[in-house]
Amino acid sequence: MYYPEPIAKLIDAFTHLPGIGVKTAGRLAFHVLRMKEEDVLDFAKALVNVKRNLHFCTVCCNITDVDPCRICRDKGRDESVICVVQESKDLVAMERTKDFNGQYHVLHGAISPMEGVGPEEIRIAELLNRLSDEKVKELILATNPNIEGEATAMYLSRLVKPFGIKVTRIAHGLPVGGDLEYADEVTLSKALEGRREI
Ligand SMILES: [Zn+2]
Repeated sequence: MYYPEPIAKLIDAFTHLPGIGVKTAGRLAFHVLRMKEEDVLDFAKALVNVKRNLHFCTVCCNITDVDPCRICRDKGRDESVICVVQESKDLVAMERTKDFNGQYHVLHGAISPMEGVGPEEIRIAELLNRLSDEKVKELILATNPNIEGEATAMYLSRLVKPFGIKVTRIAHGLPVGGDLEYADEVTLSKALEGRREI
């Protein structure tokens, strides 16, 4: 109420972003005020374009500007393995490891009875469609290691078993560089469960 309307509106818009409080929003808004006009226009264009020019890939449901997306188009990737992740940013995290050369499927969420998210709300039907194709031999469930992620993984493994496809779950364990004594019991017991021969 102390600011002219345009700046008050901008502050309000920034507070709608995750992790941005009123103070930070004010700092950002005044930063925009000091920016060169062309930079502000570029910023505004980037915001609009992300909404207008991005779609969901009709194969893997990842966000993309071309359809099918670049990963689904890539003939050099292994079509027999699909790694299932909750969000597009999880796919990016997996890609960064450079250790996976298969396909992906992005669910856009996880099953959460607490929040009323059922299997129909996430991209499971699209995944099942892909499995009727005989090329797929393995499904890697890389959903988050929390209640929702585990529930989703369990649900998917039961659903996919009849297809005769191998279903694997990524291992849970200790962070690299961490100390055993600081790990919580659940992490430690999961690490023990997921042990392998060396
Ligand atoms: Zn795709």
